[in-house]
Amino acid sequence: MIHICEVGPRDGLQNEKRHLSVQQRIELIERLMETGVRKIETVSFVNPKVVPQMSDPEEVVAGIRRKKGVIIAGLVLSPRGLERALETELDAIHFTLAVSDTFNQRNARRTAEQSVMEIEDMIRAAGEQGKPCVAILGTAFGCPFEGDVSEEKVLRIAERFIWAGCRNITLADTTGLANPLQVKRLVTKFFAEFGKNIELGLHFHNTRGLGLANVLAGYEAGVRHFDSSVGGTGGCPFAPKAVGNVCTEDMVNMFHSMGVDTGIDLERLTDVALWLEQQLERRLDGMMMKLK
Ligand code: ZN
Repeated sequence: MIHICEVGPRDGLQNEKRHLSVQQRIELIERLMETGVRKIETVSFVNPKVVPQMSDPEEVVAGIRRKKGVIIAGLVLSPRGLERALETELDAIHFTLAVSDTFNQRNARRTAEQSVMEIEDMIRAAGEQGKPCVAILGTAFGCPFEGDVSEEKVLRIAERFIWAGCRNITLADTTGLANPLQVKRLVTKFFAEFGKNIELGLHFHNTRGLGLANVLAGYEAGVRHFDSSVGGTGGCPFAPKAVGNVCTEDMVNMFHSMGVDTGIDLERLTDVALWLEQQLERRLDGMMMKLK
């Protein structure tokens, strides 16, 4: 069984020229819930002046008609963001940083080490409130500014978050630099070091067309948790030329055609991608949706 975290409402929309209203964002989330997706990254607590697409996260979370068994998660980037997030009905909190210093400086205006210390504190604070969290290590497979990123650095940062109490680590390929053999190598090292009690997720962008190949490499190395975005929407506002996430319905199709269950209704999900295409008024990158 594959566990998908649908990141379309957050990673997918945050870079779109067309800004969806709070009501449209809620509708997207609710349509996704009807497809069998069991975890959705719905909002981000960022400055709306910097990322206007993600304004009013409180309103979005409060407006969702909840469905049993679906985890509603939100991304938090600062202690102030965490305070806001903890006042909502979110089920899980996602934290992120870039392992690469240059990327983190540009994205968060601090070194990776400064972000690690801040996130360690936030993991503990969320834990005290009983909120499960996921720590997402961006640029884990390479940095558009620095090039190679040390696997050792990735593993040591993951270890710090695990020590702080986080049981879920996601390695993110923020700008689509990973290749399948690299994925297999890093995942194998991760499991060798931390075992399978830590839930490892993978988050790929399709910038160089390797998204699904990287998902398969992760799957073969033992990973069962993947982030993806309906319609293949997405891209980091701070990353040059970053394109969309791995497309959820294309990934679901890959797993289903291999006989691996995802719990998702592919037909319904593809309909959501087509609906989203209308809302965004541009052609999306998904492949399955083009067959409909
Ligand atoms: Zn991403």
